[in-house]
Amino acid sequence: MESSKNSIIVMKFGGSCLQNRESYLQIINIINKYMKSTRILIVVSAIQGITNKLIEFYEKSCTEENNCDELIEEIYNMHIQLVDAIIDKNQSGYNETVEFLQTNIEELKQLGRLIRLIRPSADIYDLVVSYGEKISTFLLSKYLTSNGFNSNYIFSDKIIITNDNFGRALPLLEETEILVKEKLYPLIISDNNNLVCVSGYYGSTKDNKISTLGRGGTDLSAAILAYALRNLFQCKIIYWKDVKGFLNADPRIAEKTSLIRNISYKEAKELAFFGAKILHPLCLDVNEKGKIPSEVRHFTEPDSEDYTAITKEIVKNNDVIKAISSIEKLSMVTLESDTMVPLSGTASKLFSLLGDNNINIVFISQSSSENNITFGIEYEDSTKVSFLLRNSDFFGEKWFKIKIDNDISLVAIIGSGILYTPGVAGKVFTSLGDNEINIKAIAQGSSELNFTAIIDRDNCKKAVNVLYDAFITK
Ligand code: ASP
Ligand code: MG
Repeated sequence: MESSKNSIIVMKFGGSCLQNRESYLQIINIINKYMKSTRILIVVSAIQGITNKLIEFYEKSCTEENNCDELIEEIYNMHIQLVDAIIDKNQSGYNETVEFLQTNIEELKQLGRLIRLIRPSADIYDLVVSYGEKISTFLLSKYLTSNGFNSNYIFSDKIIITNDNFGRALPLLEETEILVKEKLYPLIISDNNNLVCVSGYYGSTKDNKISTLGRGGTDLSAAILAYALRNLFQCKIIYWKDVKGFLNADPRIAEKTSLIRNISYKEAKELAFFGAKILHPLCLDVNEKGKIPSEVRHFTEPDSEDYTAITKEIVKNNDVIKAISSIEKLSMVTLESDTMVPLSGTASKLFSLLGDNNINIVFISQSSSENNITFGIEYEDSTKVSFLLRNSDFFGEKWFKIKIDNDISLVAIIGSGILYTPGVAGKVFTSLGDNEINIKAIAQGSSELNFTAIIDRDNCKKAVNVLYDAFITK
């Protein structure tokens, strides 16, 4: 392959790629494979298990217990064992890494004391949990240097700007792009074979507070950086994972599944919505916005042809349906009004009430009669929604009947084919009907990339397999 200085691959390495000596050797293996033909930018998660430990540390510190020392000790040990396993004690990088680790562990201890003194707050939580990525990024960069690479690092609070929705901050892409050009770009181009490592998961608010992007946020960090570099390089992202990519049905439910090799952002977003938690939910939006192609690949099989490529184009082929998705545990709420109450203004009242209380609406189903609204919510939210509705001035009134069914599941067929293939809905009805699966409600997402049926939970497995056979098995 010809070397191209104008292309860059943003590689995301998650916690499962940062476990032991073998995994670090594998990172080198991967870098060597790609480095001849492209620049590489590395985005790093915390090492396996650390973010959970940091959250535990934060929570314990909040309860004013003074026994967090053990936890800090554990966090230190997990790191130092890894450092010892991957960097030779005689190498210059070793002492530097240990010192860096110790300094950061000291800072964490002080933060723990601070949390016990002042009231806990969302911004301090973000600061505490960001240490996982800060340390792992330094460590990976030093490891690469000790293995003969010319490596550098930058912490992401210097280049990624977010809003101040701590814990699940949203990136501010324009501000980020300016900083990436100013601070990251010069590092990337400073030397031919320079590898730059960037910490994943967090950024900074405009007033310089560390903010995290939500669990699994390193995927999103990679997407944000590729977006910010899109006018400077030809960009691609590889998300290295412990799976090969997207499957066309949930392996816990479906008897047969296979790997989806090509999928558009839009279709992948549908899959993610229905519970395929392969990537951070916002990743695909950012990839789509920047028109950045990406791949999900298995970390231990970099040479394999089995991976999922996600691109802008919807590949129109004979596979009308790309996947069968399901959410096994759902609740369905039906709001019925007696006779005369017009429901037009009701919908907006309903959805703002639920929205204001952070209730995620999974589907809305239109019915032909105008006096009822049916919608799906997460099973865990059922009690809360019941309480909200029955205690609201508007819906608690006697002319609304509120029914909640806690034993339903959702199955959906997904694919751009639904847009241009007549008869898809009919086929769903007949194949479920022929197998005595009663459809309680149907819903079509606004995207028209999915068609959803609501059924009794007892039938969920059966429905997935029936639809798989009807639409996918040749
Ligand atoms: N370390 C963070 C987490 O475990 C972010 C990530 O892994 O992407 O959620
Ligand atoms: Mg992780």
